[in-house]
Amino acid sequence: MPQFFDTHAHLDFDEFRSDLPAVLDRARAVGVDRFVSIGTDLAASRRALAIAETHQGVFAVAGWHPGHAEEAPPDIRAELRALASHERIVAIGECGLDFYRLPSRMGQGTVDDDARIRERQADLFVQQLEVASELGLNVVIHTRDSFPETVELFRPYASRVRAVFHCFVGTPAEMEVVLGIGSLVSYTGIVTFKNGNAVRETLAATPMDGLMLETDCPFLAPVPHRGRRCEPAFIADIASTVAGLKHCSPEELGTATCATARSFFKRIF
Ligand SMILES: [Zn+2]
Repeated sequence: MPQFFDTHAHLDFDEFRSDLPAVLDRARAVGVDRFVSIGTDLAASRRALAIAETHQGVFAVAGWHPGHAEEAPPDIRAELRALASHERIVAIGECGLDFYRLPSRMGQGTVDDDARIRERQADLFVQQLEVASELGLNVVIHTRDSFPETVELFRPYASRVRAVFHCFVGTPAEMEVVLGIGSLVSYTGIVTFKNGNAVRETLAATPMDGLMLETDCPFLAPVPHRGRRCEPAFIADIASTVAGLKHCSPEELGTATCATARSFFKRIF
């Protein structure tokens, strides 16, 4: 059986509260035996760490999602540093920029409100890059409608910190930019979607050692599970699409992506 990691899951979300052990067992039964549970704020990061400490093969990432930037305290660095020194924390994130839901776009504010939030997101992102750089950890990046701005903020750190641009849906040229600064992309169930031709084209162009697999569960359930809660076992469905596009066996894909994940999330064992 091929081996896979789910490198981006939100196991602390309410959706998994009642049946997490069964969810993890279903994943292991199809070869998914390492799980990276991603924090979206400090409280969620602590919950992810608690899950990592009590479940076999689970590791955590600590950070603050840009979509919740307004709720963040002015400076999260001291708390993040303390949390991230734990051996089961394998990266910082998810962090980055998200310009998709800015107030003026949602009909809830002005362009001045947008500017304030963009600045807040940028400040929070840079704080997390600083902590990652200090601690020698890599970062999990969330970027939506903000690719050039995200790369611009990250670039000064790229010699010391690697990033994974998670849930990658960019163009082949954007993928080349990410790989060109020594970072990685990871692909979700979007690669299985009927309307996923653009991301499949980017995936086909991505070198085998430049990519990882993730579910982003409970979101983005792949075909044939669309519309249901996503869970780590569905990596197997994502992997069969990816292996087809990469013209390799699921075993070869598993070996390559697990090796990439182990070198990126250095503390995974
Ligand atoms: Zn996520």
